[in-house]
Amino acid sequence: MQRVLIALCLTAPLLLAQGNDTHREIPGFKIAGNLYYAGTADLAVYLIATPQGNILINSDYKQDLPAVKKSIAQLGFKYSDTKILLISHAHGDHDEATGVIQKETGAKLMVMDADVESEESTAPGRPGAHVDRVLHDGDKVTLGGSTLVAHLTPGHTPGCTTWTMQVHDGAGTLNAVIVGSPNVNPGYILVGNKTYPQIADDYLKTFEVLKSLPCDLFLGAHGAYFGMLAKIDKMKADPSQNPFIDPDGYKAYIAEREQAFRAEWTRQQKTPPGLPQ
Ligand SMILES: [Zn+2]
Repeated sequence: MQRVLIALCLTAPLLLAQGNDTHREIPGFKIAGNLYYAGTADLAVYLIATPQGNILINSDYKQDLPAVKKSIAQLGFKYSDTKILLISHAHGDHDEATGVIQKETGAKLMVMDADVESEESTAPGRPGAHVDRVLHDGDKVTLGGSTLVAHLTPGHTPGCTTWTMQVHDGAGTLNAVIVGSPNVNPGYILVGNKTYPQIADDYLKTFEVLKSLPCDLFLGAHGAYFGMLAKIDKMKADPSQNPFIDPDGYKAYIAEREQAFRAEWTRQQKTPPGLPQ
């Protein structure tokens, strides 16, 4: 029974949160240096191109995979060159197709320890993928001269991961931050959560980590986190500027999300979930 309840808690908010941009195809584009975007209008997939093959962060839903493949090809890369597959966190909108990509390309799937069980689960909507390498907070993933660092930013899922990397662009070296998720979904229990007792403390830890990361390129698991569609328009209007370089936007986003978390936490402390409202 408890498992069913957990499944409902995880899937219902995702369904509610889906907007028109979830599955909408957009052309892939270069963010900076060897870092590219190959996701839908909201579900982010990042491609890091190296001389030894490519790294993908996130797979999106299975139904989005044709759009992702199309973007990779149109950017001039080969899907079959995918060597490493990473995720922002173990929710279907970011990882449902990981098992398929792994089978089709032979890429090694690397996932933060606390999300491994969910990644390997064959429950409905879960990828049932095999995790080739279990990551821990601070681990590095390196391929062809590019290094990504896995920062544990738990709460949204226990193994939620914020990826950072240094991107070498014409302008110099840029610190990219790909936020895993700082969001409390509708239905999340922050007070008296029996299956995830430390969830609120984990969110607090996440905000400390996110505030400590140097950020030039502000990115995340959903385009909506960093105003991607508006930034694409800006980039088209003036290609001499890179709107994804947005350290102030990053700081403002993290501050606003922390405030939202604290407001919801306070609300639940006053009226714990499960008690009559
Ligand atoms: Zn999620």
